Order: sequence, then C-alpha cells, then structure tokens
Amino acid sequence: MPETSEQSAGRFDTVLIANRGEIAARIQRACRELGLKTVAICSEADRQAPYGKTADSFLCIGPSTAAKSYLNQDAILLAARLAGAGAIHPGYGFLSENAAFADAIEKAGLVFIGPTASSIAIMGDKISAKRAMMAAGVPCVPGPDTALPDDPATIERIALEIGYPVIIKAAGGGGGRGMRVVPKADVLHEAIALTREEARKAFGSRSLYMEKFLEHPRHIEIQVICDDHGNAVWLGHRDCSMQRRHQKVVEEAPAPGIAPDIIQPVGLACVQACLQIGYRGVGTFEFLYEDGAFYFIEMNTRLQVEHPVTEMTSGVDIVQAQIRAAQGHVLDLIQGDVTCEGHSFECRINAEDPETFLPSAGVVTHLALPAGPGIRVDTHIHAGYKVSPYYDSLIAKLIVHAPTRAEAMARMREALAGTEVEGISTNIPFLRALFKDGAFAQGETDIHYLEQWLKLRRAT
Ligand code: ADP
Repeated sequence: MPETSEQSAGRFDTVLIANRGEIAARIQRACRELGLKTVAICSEADRQAPYGKTADSFLCIGPSTAAKSYLNQDAILLAARLAGAGAIHPGYGFLSENAAFADAIEKAGLVFIGPTASSIAIMGDKISAKRAMMAAGVPCVPGPDTALPDDPATIERIALEIGYPVIIKAAGGGGGRGMRVVPKADVLHEAIALTREEARKAFGSRSLYMEKFLEHPRHIEIQVICDDHGNAVWLGHRDCSMQRRHQKVVEEAPAPGIAPDIIQPVGLACVQACLQIGYRGVGTFEFLYEDGAFYFIEMNTRLQVEHPVTEMTSGVDIVQAQIRAAQGHVLDLIQGDVTCEGHSFECRINAEDPETFLPSAGVVTHLALPAGPGIRVDTHIHAGYKVSPYYDSLIAKLIVHAPTRAEAMARMREALAGTEVEGISTNIPFLRALFKDGAFAQGETDIHYLEQWLKLRRAT
C-alpha cells in the first residue's frame, strides 16, 4: 500500500549539517526550532566554531583543506552513521549541487535535504536545463538547446542566426568560468577552441553551447519551494545585479521597477517547470532581464546565500520549509497565501581588503553588531574568532527590512555604521560608500554597474 503523506512525514529526527560558517549556524537554528537534533562537522581549522558547541554532536572529519573535509563524501557519510543522523543538509557551495553525493546519501538509507539526484543532474548540465525550461514555457536566452557540433560551417550558421555578439558557454560550467563572449565572426573559431579546451580541463566535458550575449542585463531570480506531493509555489523575486567578478555583493527583494504583470507569468512558468521535472525542496531560477524581457540562464538546486531577503519580504522561513519538504510534509502554503511586503537588502560582509579585495585572515579582536527593528545578522563569528584562510571570505550577512526601498536603504546605512569588525580587514567601508551612491539609490542598475563604479572610484 502506498504511504500517505502523514505516514511518510517526519522521516528523520537528527540532521547532519555538511557545511561550515554562517550557513551551518543558520541551518542548526532552523533544525532546533523544528525540534530536530543536529550534528555539526568541522575540519581541523574550524574546531573552535561556535555552532559546534551548540550542536548535539560535533565531529571533526578531516584536515583544513576542503577537498579532505567538507568535500570528502565518505567522511561525511561515516560521520552521519556514527552520530545517528537520518538526514544530511548540504547548505550551499561544497557538495550542495553534487548529484553523486545526493545519490550516495539516499543509497545509504538517509535523506538528502534537497532535490533528487536526477533533478540536480538535469539542472547541473546547462544544455539539459535549458531544454527542460523551454519545454515548460520558461523564457530562455535566444540560441539552440543543443550542444554545438564540431563542423565549423554549422557553428558559423548558428552564430549568424542568433546574431552577434554571442556567448559560448560550457554545458558543465559554473562559478562564472567556462564562458567567452564573441563580438564578431572573425574570432568565433578561436573562441570555440579555447572554451572547449577550458571546459575539458575544468569540467571534464568539452560540450559547449551558444546563446545571444545580452549587453546591459540585470540579474533577477525567482525563489521556489516544492514538496513531494505535487505542490509548488514561488516566493517573489530578488535582484542580484550588484556583482563583482560575477560574485554577488548586495542583494535585494523585490527587484525594483518590475511590474507585477511582467513577473507573474515568469514565476508561474518556474512553478510549472518544477512540477514537470518533479522538483523537491527549495530552488532558484536565475534570469537576465533586459528591455522588459526575462531570459533564463540557470537553476540553482539548493539554498542560496541570499535567501534571507526573501524570508524578510515573504515571512516564510525558507530553511524550515526546505527541511519539512525533505521530511515528506505537504507544503503548508498555496500560491494565494504568498504576499511579499516591504523591501529587504542583504550585504555580504567579507574578510577582505576593501580596496584590493584580497582575502584577510586573522583574529577578530573586536566585534559590534547592529540591532533594532528590521535588522538581522546571520553570522558565526564573535570577538576572538579566528578567520581562517582556507575557505570563502564571507563572515556575516547584514540584512534589513523596511516598508519602502528608500527606508530600507536608510536602515542599511545605519546598520553598516553600527557594524564594527577589528583585527581583520573587511569590505564594510566599501559597502558604506556603495549605499551612498545616487544611481544605486535610484535602483535598476545593471550587472556591470558595480565594476564601473569601482573603476571610477579608483580613478578619482
Ligand atoms: P555560472 O553557472 O558560471 O554562474 P551563469 O550562466 O549563471 O554561469 O552566468 C554567470 C554570469 O555570466 C551571469 O550572471 C551574467 O553576468 C553572465 N552571463 C551569462 N550568460 C549571459 C548572456 N547570455 N549574456 C550576457 N551575460 C551573460
């Protein structure tokens, strides 16, 4: 007899959090609020992590190098077995979008808090993702949903049909690598050869595809949550156009200046796509937005760094919803219940030089964090915390919420003024300057704006 939703719900009572830093602390809080026990893991460099002390179990799984600890699938599975965990939450980064890891967890009889391995595999290959999205009616960047052939004449014809400039992308690419813009025909074949070689070396596949290169887009994304019972909702949109080297620096929700009748059909198409591929848990559809049109670029099949801005506007605890979906619970909200209110910003506070952006490791000698209505700080650091050089430089996320965008900006200025980190360098001075910028205050700046702003600042 098939299980009913209530019989299958509550499949585990202990969660191993296969991550570190602020997100490990964030997930641990969500688990506790749901009455679940937690297992924290660490590398040798993270033995002093504060979330280790508050977890029910804390295991060191390997040396400081991520490849030997946070990316070591066998060590994580062994830790889960030793600590009696029934589920593994991968957080973001590390193994969060690794289909083989999701598969190994399920084969070991545990629950992977995320989508199925096959959903991760479909969305991890940018060509199959694009094909799935087109089939579900999600608007994509102009260009074929098939890999480029080897025949030079056919490649030339495809580029002409799309129209220059075009962008060549590795099907297995990620992290802003494996992409090359081709402004005109005479550099096409050279670009193809270089990108193929890069793709083969970096991603183990020489498969490439081509699409239109959009010159002044904004980066706008849609958050979805789905359960295992055929229910899915979208929780509004975020703007993550403030980027440096394809890395997001400031995010906000909602994306300013987007009329509801333009975004509604896109949100509904994302939900449709989730239902078609049998997606479970939380996910994000990333789009480029130019001249009033949306173009899908990729789906992230995991929790994202910037999820708090959507939590602030929608009132939904996205991490709890993700865990409950993995437990087999029916989603406890329908699309009609989703209302997004006010405006939220997130600043990524990084341990790095505010001018050169080089990482800055060392001991935090003094820490003051802002507080007050509409202010949230997601962090794992404290005075005396040692920022190690081994991992991503994100040390805290400063999030604000206010009724309007202008009020949220003012609140962020105030919150940044009240944030003090001493002993290491951080990007706080740079963030303070950015929140005084007139064009940013106006909203709707494109993905190149921040780089141009930095260039101008250096020149003056
Ligand atoms: P990755 O998986 O490496 O992050 P994405 O496909 O998400 O790659 O693209 C990363 C960034 O590259 C985008 O945020 C955008 O800045 C740029 N980009 C990607 N595709 C295009 C395109 N067709 N036109 C213009 N810029 C693009």
